[in-house]
Amino acid sequence: MPDPHPASVPIRQHAPRLNTLAAPVPDSLPILPQYFDALFHAQGQQHWWPGRTPFEIIVGAILVQNTAWVNAARAIANLRDAKLLTPSAINLVPQPKLARLIRSSGYFRQKARKLKAFVTFLRKEHRGSLATMFRTPTSTLRLQLLAVHGIGPETAVFVVDAYTRRILQRHGLANGKESYEEIRRLVEKSLPNDPQLFNEFHALIVHTGKNFCRARAPLCSQCALQTFLPKSVEGSR
Ligand code: SF4
Repeated sequence: MPDPHPASVPIRQHAPRLNTLAAPVPDSLPILPQYFDALFHAQGQQHWWPGRTPFEIIVGAILVQNTAWVNAARAIANLRDAKLLTPSAINLVPQPKLARLIRSSGYFRQKARKLKAFVTFLRKEHRGSLATMFRTPTSTLRLQLLAVHGIGPETAVFVVDAYTRRILQRHGLANGKESYEEIRRLVEKSLPNDPQLFNEFHALIVHTGKNFCRARAPLCSQCALQTFLPKSVEGSR
């Protein structure tokens, strides 16, 4: 589970902000642990990685790429209604039908292909068993997953979605031109290397994005991250 003790996360004051640096993208954002701590303190553990089963969690990690969680959640609900939330069901369903059902998550044809690729990998490498897959040493499994079409490092680790981008941008920590990979690497290098902590941070960001950092009229005065808001931006919120 994510570390609930803020003191265990290294903190550096006066961290550089991305859009003030000469280099296009810095190696890390040392201030991010403070963001985690502030959100965790204000919102508590989210008990969230959006899925009821390990397979749903993996499906969610694929569907949430490059979109807000609400869109991925709608796609998962469709898959659940169609009784397709098992590896064997995803394996059997025609890809065009799968794509239709997950349309709300965006890039739905690509994501349907990714889901198919994952269950094919599971069948071939782990006899279709998630339990067997999870018994594989983490470093080996990570390499195996990275070799699966479309799974990529983003699925195995921190998920960057629209809320992440919006918050980083509004706080001057991103300029909006970074690639998915650049943002993912930036966040991962800024926090302790713990996939569950990454998931928790993502959940906290989703909560913040949905409840405070809305596209229009963000509620900065009620948000746990207001203290980090650059003065220049604060005045306009
Ligand atoms: S302080 Fe404002 S801009 Fe920053 S995350 Fe919260 S709502 Fe968004």
